[in-house]
Amino acid sequence: MIYLDNNATTRVADEVVDAMRPYYTEIFGNPHSAHTLGRRAHEGLERARGEVANLLNAAHDEIFFTSCGTESNALVLRGFGSNTSRRKVVVSSVEHPSVNLMVRQLADQREVEVATVGVDGAGRLDLDQMRELVDESTAIVAVMLAQNETGVIHDVASVAEIAHAKGAHLLVDAVQAAGKIPIDVGTLGADFLSISGHKFHAPKGIGALFIRRGLKLAPMWRGGGQESGLRSGTEPVALAVGLGTAARLAGAHLSDFARVRELRDAFEDQVKRATPTASVNGHGVKRLPNTSNISFEGLYGDEIVLKLDEAGICVSAGAACHSGNREPGAVMKAMHKPVAQALGTVRFSLSRFTTKEEIDHAANVTCDVVQALPNVRVSS
Ligand code: PLP
Repeated sequence: MIYLDNNATTRVADEVVDAMRPYYTEIFGNPHSAHTLGRRAHEGLERARGEVANLLNAAHDEIFFTSCGTESNALVLRGFGSNTSRRKVVVSSVEHPSVNLMVRQLADQREVEVATVGVDGAGRLDLDQMRELVDESTAIVAVMLAQNETGVIHDVASVAEIAHAKGAHLLVDAVQAAGKIPIDVGTLGADFLSISGHKFHAPKGIGALFIRRGLKLAPMWRGGGQESGLRSGTEPVALAVGLGTAARLAGAHLSDFARVRELRDAFEDQVKRATPTASVNGHGVKRLPNTSNISFEGLYGDEIVLKLDEAGICVSAGAACHSGNREPGAVMKAMHKPVAQALGTVRFSLSRFTTKEEIDHAANVTCDVVQALPNVRVSS
């Protein structure tokens, strides 16, 4: 099995499993218990918080554990309203549904007013439109650091300047960026920043939210007051230890992504040479080193995914196929891709564990698969 779907989720690193195990079997105390077992669990939890803080160049007390990226984003989007009378939220047109659908729900409930900033054909944010839309009524600007489908890296520092100039706060969804490129909350100008463990070799079920010191969010629920009252509920210590270990490893292995970029580029070169109708989506340079989003014009992405799966290669398609009706994906629509290209979109996403042999084999098989599939006529 060759796994090239690392933007969907990643394999948990062996060191992460090893670090977590004692917190299930021996150090299973409640981290808020006064006895030795509780104190040792507390130490593990706080060490993990420090490791996450290091990855983001944040302070220890600015990191809050959550269950996932979706929850981190929701805590901000639902929780900021208690601090301000401002009601406008500005988002990009390529945000993950955990931002997009959440703000739309809040708008339906008349809690916020949403303004959307578009992207160009290379997936880059329209900063001029951002300047027009962000105003004194804006509470939050929500922008992802790296787009999950295309890997395009956004100019978040410029967005921060625009937001802060109007007194708005910036939520950075860094779920796809964490562990793949360096993240510094100070340089980015982030007020809030979301990450998710399962995207960088920690388990599913644990994420974190950075909250700049001095900022406050209303909790989504109340209870024992854990995580400084933001997220009541006994912390999943073993999962947090897994996240902390994965964060430490991610920091140590960031330089591996130069090799990953070379593999990704070689893969794209081979596929484009063999398939003249293939085109890479997203900005050439400002892109995550592990992500390759390719449109095979005249083919259906979901059919390519199935054929690659039969050949033992895991990837994902950008277009949604519901009961036989194919729809271009929201991100390709936002980038104004022609339908015939958008429907043929496939995402290949590598990890630091991906080998040259795997990539060579995947490139050969992909070329064979797309050449064997019959062309379809798609009306725009
Ligand atoms: N934000 C981005 C950019 C993502 O890619 C994802 C997951 O794919 C999420 C948020 C949601 O993360 P989680 O699955 O941890 O809830």
